[in-house]
Amino acid sequence: MTHSDAQGFNTRAIHAGQTPDPTTGAVIPPLYQTTTFAQDGIGKLRNGYEYGRGTNPTRDSLQTQLAALEGGKHAFSFSSGLAAEDALIRAALRPGDHIVLGNDAYGGTYRLIDRVLSEWGITNSAVDMADLDAVSAAIANGNTKMVWVETPSNPMMKITDIAAIAQLAHDAGALLVVDNTFASPYLQQPLTFGADVVVHSTTKYIGGHSDASGGAVVVDDDGLAEKVGFIQFAVGAVSAPMEAWLTTRGLKTLGVRMDRHSSNATAIAQWLLEQDEVEHVYYPGLADHPGHDLAASQMKSFGGMISVTFKGGAEAAKKVAEATSVFTLAESLGGIESLMNYPSDMTHASVKGTELAVPENLIRLSVGIEDVEDLLADLEQALTALRS
Ligand SMILES: *Cc1c(COP(=O)(O)O)cnc(C)c1O
Repeated sequence: MTHSDAQGFNTRAIHAGQTPDPTTGAVIPPLYQTTTFAQDGIGKLRNGYEYGRGTNPTRDSLQTQLAALEGGKHAFSFSSGLAAEDALIRAALRPGDHIVLGNDAYGGTYRLIDRVLSEWGITNSAVDMADLDAVSAAIANGNTKMVWVETPSNPMMKITDIAAIAQLAHDAGALLVVDNTFASPYLQQPLTFGADVVVHSTTKYIGGHSDASGGAVVVDDDGLAEKVGFIQFAVGAVSAPMEAWLTTRGLKTLGVRMDRHSSNATAIAQWLLEQDEVEHVYYPGLADHPGHDLAASQMKSFGGMISVTFKGGAEAAKKVAEATSVFTLAESLGGIESLMNYPSDMTHASVKGTELAVPENLIRLSVGIEDVEDLLADLEQALTALRS
């Protein structure tokens, strides 16, 4: 019924923050779909609950669960991943501060930092995170207060050495933030490798069912947590009760889902390797992936995301993307259903023509948890369309 940090991941996923309702014994904590709470006298709050933007028991339940799974002391839940990132950056940085981020960071993250926060005096450098000398050089200008890592990255599936970057960031007095959306806390826990902050788009694997948008910030440091909590309350991009409740429900099955995502993706990546039409398969589980050993050392398994390029160029990639029927052509990732994305014109359209642009012959697969035979048959018939 309650949890302890000594328990295994799945036990914590199911029990952290999930104490049965004290009034009725309901095994599943209720959805507190309310904006305000009755007071027993002026300022006499019941268990601290006052107003929904500040606190809500359903959001608290999710936050406790998230903190327990990332191994952090504090977690904050937001209405989207980008809302979480914005709150974190405004809590931690001030005008004149500099962020170093990967040159293949999530396009929306880059847009937030480069086009929105730049107007408030936050500067940035986008570098190849696999090149530690380049990271050091970018940090060296003196004002770097935050280093931002995504591993695996989207959509090129590059792997970054979290512990090595943590060292570089800390030597310069900067925070290391890891966007752990692609791996999820089941596969990788960045705080254990020295990261200071983990951010998530819980819209993806954590929610896992493509039915609830959300984001999270997880931190250990009490001072930083207080600042993030203040921005969450004062700016108000909190997750709504229904979204928090759905996310909590999804998160309970994260472990079993990720095991299946990983095994299905491994089988599909190996199958893709053997196809004549395929130019390259980007999946950290493949032995020839440049980050394979590093991924094996910091991840439990290799996850459900694969990118693949085609010898037939953009035309072939688009044709495959439009020819599947079990894989749905859609943005986003991390749900139980398999999705197919053409990043150049879809998720990464905002970085087209910049240094963050994605190859035009690339498609990205979010491999779901359907029966792998059906996924392979679907891809097979889509590749057949290229041969005709
Ligand atoms: C989707 C995503 C985000 C942004 O999250 P939203 O919930 O869409 O705001 C950030 N980082 C990564 C890696 C993502 O995939």
